[in-house]
Amino acid sequence: LTEILNRARFMNDVDEAIRLGCPVEVHTIDINRFKEINDAFGPAVGDDILRQVARRLQTLSDKRDLLARLGGDEFALAEIVRNMGQVTKTARRIIATMGETFHLGDHDVDVTVSVGSAVAPAHGQDAPTLLRNAEIALTHSKSAGPASRSLFRPEMDAELQAQRELETLLRSAVAKGTFELMFQPIHRAEDLRIAGFEALLRLPRDGGGHVSPAVFVPLAERLGLITAIGGWVIGRACEVAATWPSQLTIAVNLSPVQFEDGRIVETVRATLEASGLAARRLELEITEGLLLSDTESVMRQLADLKALGVRIAMDDFGTGYSSLSYLWRFPFDKLKVDQSFVRALGKGDEHLASVIQAIVALGRSLGMTITAEGVETDAQANFLRQIGCDQLQGFHLGRPMALDRLPGAILKDFRSAAERSEAETSATRVSREA
Ligand code: C2E
Ligand code: CA
Ligand code: CA
Repeated sequence: LTEILNRARFMNDVDEAIRLGCPVEVHTIDINRFKEINDAFGPAVGDDILRQVARRLQTLSDKRDLLARLGGDEFALAEIVRNMGQVTKTARRIIATMGETFHLGDHDVDVTVSVGSAVAPAHGQDAPTLLRNAEIALTHSKSAGPASRSLFRPEMDAELQAQRELETLLRSAVAKGTFELMFQPIHRAEDLRIAGFEALLRLPRDGGGHVSPAVFVPLAERLGLITAIGGWVIGRACEVAATWPSQLTIAVNLSPVQFEDGRIVETVRATLEASGLAARRLELEITEGLLLSDTESVMRQLADLKALGVRIAMDDFGTGYSSLSYLWRFPFDKLKVDQSFVRALGKGDEHLASVIQAIVALGRSLGMTITAEGVETDAQANFLRQIGCDQLQGFHLGRPMALDRLPGAILKDFRSAAERSEAETSATRVSREA
């Protein structure tokens, strides 16, 4: 099809070059989303792309280089290294040469490739090892995003192994439904009573412990699993919250990917109906990352969610770049001051307190509820309360807890409130009698 070498010939010639003591570098090249293109335009267009990619690679290589189609949509280019700087240069040129639109009959198609490279003898003293390591680098590139390139590093092997294990664990948790939710209390700043809980996702590890969502959520997003997982989180969180006293709220974190298929509004609506939870008790936490992308469709979906009666919170506020412009474009109900600000409090930074105060004042003037996250000390709690935060969340007041500990926590909150009001009543009685 492409009139270039096949895998067997390529391996043979690379082995020969290594045996002659030549410093050979191998680049493996994979066309991103080739299957989608093939499905969308048909196999004839797919073949045409393969031919044109081969031709563009040919223009990059000289007579001594080896060019092969390894199979499917994967290509390889081998060349003799003349100087070490050349390795990244060739990879960069391969990516650049695919940058121009492909004209295929009636269709114009944009194609990106990922490149993974390895150099002999450092990364392998025979063709199979060298190629395997270049392909490990290629996998690394693919997970870094389209049009990425990387040179093999020995740690990549272990990273890839760990990544594969995590992927297996994640897929099996999706298949078996073995995720868990933890619930962290959010307290009212004025009297420290529990206002509600935030649902935090956990992926249990075989043999105990769990993987942090900070680690597996990005992978689940890349693998296209987050919408299913996120749907489960919303369902489970609402089901649990529906059993609580009716003033308690439940907060759920949403990934930007959950807004891509346009079905989040329907998912939330159906979940509220099925669980019987009042919409005003559900809070959806989003991050700035969501608003960086296709803002028009996102804004519409956020407005539709709000129209259902649920509250929308801006999470991790202050960590991104364009926070302020989003504040007036969407009427958020709540702003969560990022943990990093709270953590730095009391560490001697003279301007920090003013910055937090300004954020709180800004949010309040826009009518938003202000929650401070990551509260770990009494001093932090006192300061945040003084400057007008409405709610506090953090290990100092309550850690994320498993479902079976919730009834105890809720009862304790009720009892201490009841005791406090009893003490107040008797204090008034005593002073009146006096
Ligand atoms: P987040 O939304 O900012 O959640 C708060 C994180 O801070 C939680 O970590 C919580 O355990 C931790 N935390 C709370 N108080 C303190 C404190 O006082 N000190 C310190 N050091 N940490 C505190 P976790 O549970 O590991 O979650 C990490 C992130 O993963 C979350 O950050 C959120 O972005 C994401 N995540 C969690 N659950 C979900 C989910 O269901 N869906 C999605 N898309 N993301 C989730
Ligand atoms: Ca959150
Ligand atoms: Ca947060």
